[in-house]
Amino acid sequence: MEQRCLYDYNLAELTELLRSWGEPEFRARQLYRHLYVNLTADAGRMTDLPATLRARLSDLPLSTLRLERVQIGDEGMTRKALFRLPDGAVVETVLMVYPDRSTACVSTQAGCGMGCVFCATGKLGLLRNLSSGEIVAQAIWASQELRAMGAAGPSGRITNLVFMGMGEPFANYDRWWQAVERLHDPRGFNLGARSMTVSTVGLVKGIERLANESLPVNLAISLHAPDDALRSELMPVNRRYPIAELMAATRNYVIKTRRRVSFEYVLLQGKNDHPHQAVALARLLRREAPRGAMLFHVNLIPWNPVPGTPLGRSEWERVTAFRQILTDYGIPCTVRVERGVEIAAACGQLAGQQVVMVEPVSQPVRE
Ligand code: SAH
Ligand code: SF4
Repeated sequence: MEQRCLYDYNLAELTELLRSWGEPEFRARQLYRHLYVNLTADAGRMTDLPATLRARLSDLPLSTLRLERVQIGDEGMTRKALFRLPDGAVVETVLMVYPDRSTACVSTQAGCGMGCVFCATGKLGLLRNLSSGEIVAQAIWASQELRAMGAAGPSGRITNLVFMGMGEPFANYDRWWQAVERLHDPRGFNLGARSMTVSTVGLVKGIERLANESLPVNLAISLHAPDDALRSELMPVNRRYPIAELMAATRNYVIKTRRRVSFEYVLLQGKNDHPHQAVALARLLRREAPRGAMLFHVNLIPWNPVPGTPLGRSEWERVTAFRQILTDYGIPCTVRVERGVEIAAACGQLAGQQVVMVEPVSQPVRE
């Protein structure tokens, strides 16, 4: 049985918990504000709560994430946290600060069972699903960190949240969605669903479920290859959900929600970055977009090194040539600018401990 923490409860559940302790309803709202608005890190500091309640609360951890270290890159603007869970598993969270926004990249599983060959997390295999509280607490950490940096407004909250850390969100759908609802709750953390993006390896059932949800969370789909043979080689999940099925689900999602999806495409030198593959990708996407029925764009991601793989990062000329072909075909396309490569905090480098440390960390490591 997992250890529960306060961030595992929504407001109704906290109200129920406190009611069972004989506390009036408004106490739950006070506590909820501490957790999600004030970001109070310690029940002992919730001084507007009666001492008896604070004592009782201290029996229940606020969060089960134990911060082991924070690594700092990009001149302080990227921060990667390594958390240890009560059962010893580790997960990572990345905070990226920009002049006009700040994004938290959050993990949904410890490890990942999808086995994509280019991904550091995939090498770990699935250790376990995170609880909703463990997902939520990562976003809270990012906001607390931001507040400590003095980089944001008085609330010190992140403006964007991407579920692109370790793990496959749709393989842990229920808990992931509980986390989304809790972080969205206007009575608490109040992060708009349109400011959240989930990235999936292409689990069709999850795409179908998301299409029917009430909150408009953005969807990104990891495509990475224009044909089934190569996609299956890179991403074993393609054998279960081949491209045609993935595209059909995506089309239905777009028709239903009228929201734009992003296709992510990691560029691997000599593997999926040939000009003829750019043409095949453009044709595939155009076929799927009859008369604008499909709203999408392509996000090209220069691959971030993962040691122990025979893969290479595409040279910049190949990236721009690939992009140019897509553009010539009228496919909206951007190249993702990476953050945190030197602290192994970039896409697909999250794997815990030293496993993926490819270069010595040049920035200070602090506890
Ligand atoms: N499991 C989900 C979300 C986490 S991975 C998914 O696969 O979509 C987030 C993104 O990083 C995905 O698009 C993934 O394919 C990409 N990625 C994985 N390894 C990478 C690497 N080494 N370099 C660049 N991107 C990588
Ligand atoms: Fe899992 Fe995503 Fe990595 Fe694939 S790319 S192994 S789905 S985390």
